[in-house]
Amino acid sequence: MSARFATHVAYEPPAYALRVLEVLERAGHEAWIVGGWVRDALRGAPCHDVDVTTSALWQDGARILREAGIVVHETGTAHGTITAVVDGRPVEVTTYRVEGTYSDHRHPDEVHFVRSVQEDLARRDFTINAMAYHPKRGLLDPFGGCEDLAAGVVRAVGDPRKRFAEDALRVLRAVRFACRMGFSIEADTHKALVEMAPLLGDIAQERIGQEVSGILESGRMGWALMHEPEVIGAAIPEVTDMQGFDQLSSWHVFDVMEHTAHVCNAVEAFTAGVASLRLRWAAFLHDIGKPATLSIDENGRGHFYGHPILGAIMAERIMKRLAIPGELTRGAVALVRYHDHIIRPTERSMRRVLAILDEECTGEAMTLAHELMDLKRADAVSKQIKCAWYAVELDEMDRILRSEGSKGATVRVKDLAIGGRDVIEELGIDPGPMVGMALSQLLQAVIDGEVENTREALITELWRTAQQTE
Ligand code: ATP
Ligand code: MG
Repeated sequence: MSARFATHVAYEPPAYALRVLEVLERAGHEAWIVGGWVRDALRGAPCHDVDVTTSALWQDGARILREAGIVVHETGTAHGTITAVVDGRPVEVTTYRVEGTYSDHRHPDEVHFVRSVQEDLARRDFTINAMAYHPKRGLLDPFGGCEDLAAGVVRAVGDPRKRFAEDALRVLRAVRFACRMGFSIEADTHKALVEMAPLLGDIAQERIGQEVSGILESGRMGWALMHEPEVIGAAIPEVTDMQGFDQLSSWHVFDVMEHTAHVCNAVEAFTAGVASLRLRWAAFLHDIGKPATLSIDENGRGHFYGHPILGAIMAERIMKRLAIPGELTRGAVALVRYHDHIIRPTERSMRRVLAILDEECTGEAMTLAHELMDLKRADAVSKQIKCAWYAVELDEMDRILRSEGSKGATVRVKDLAIGGRDVIEELGIDPGPMVGMALSQLLQAVIDGEVENTREALITELWRTAQQTE
């Protein structure tokens, strides 16, 4: 009977990887392609970088590959890994191995090299990642990875509790793979995830940061928050407070966590799934300041005064802790800080926003402003139905933004048609803080639409204000 699911790769391995297999096997060893490449070739996804697993001890592998003229870097020899470079393409080559005990939920206490590929596959995390492929011998799939791939399921190899206890990072990897491929998590594996998620406390923050970034990059953080809140909460403890947090407000039909999940999803919908990473981070963390800022008025209604400011502080702290790059953090934090900022569909209001955002992220005000519109739109449609009208107003704001963009909106002092030297010469004053203040005032007047950004108009305005202050 033929299988009801694909057991054939959609394309053959690239020539540079075949060369590595051939050189190792000609010397009498066995070698297979494993992991991500096999998974992605079976599901017809774009070609993944190639990892090879081999019976050759790394020292022998390195020697044989070098003798064949291949450059080899000793990248992880403690774990039996070397990197061969063929035609400029790196291939990771790892000796068949199993891992000893794990006493810290992170690193195996020791690794043992073994003789059989089956044993090597058994130490891998998920069935879909525990398959090996060889162009002549075909597919090796001892744990039903193909079937799980076809069913769209992430399932641990072996006893999930044991596997997550060995290496707690697998908890987050499970969610990342589910998000990346739009898969669900098999019931027993899911139960173990919930149970073992607290072990993430033993994992280095930057490794957690990488996995959380991977989840955000998939555009499915909304799904992760709804289906695996314990995992995301264990990765970022501040998130836990959002779960089940009633907003006590007629503006909201969801608790903070559900609302956040909806915003993450809506951001994807409004950007056709290509939201920038900073917008995704911002959607994820925009209301992180809410639980700590709740106040209840005499009518029992909840308010969250200052939550964007506290949210920005918390988002910055979280992203820094997770070693997210500074530039990405700056943009995301700016979006969190201004997500509730009142903006009107007028040129003046939009120019003010651009000026504020330019101060946060110089040179990126226009892109950031469009992202702010997307965040606000996603926020509006994820509250009460009566808030949805605001999304229409945001369309008008987007239109104004585009028109300001094409006009080259004036948002900072250096966009002005005159500079410091002009101020000094016109007013006959000495260089100093007065010059900067005069220019800032002119900028404000231009942003507010009171003065045109031309040399004549600015100089006239300069004289007018100078006379007023005399
Ligand atoms: P991608 O690189 O696209 O995220 P991948 O499957 O290549 O996916 P890697 O992290 O590069 O994942 O690891 C390569 C392979 O090594 C995996 O497919 C899996 O078989 C194994 N592996 C990686 N990390 C672990 C882990 N923490 N526990 C068990 N096996 C792992
Ligand atoms: Mg990989």
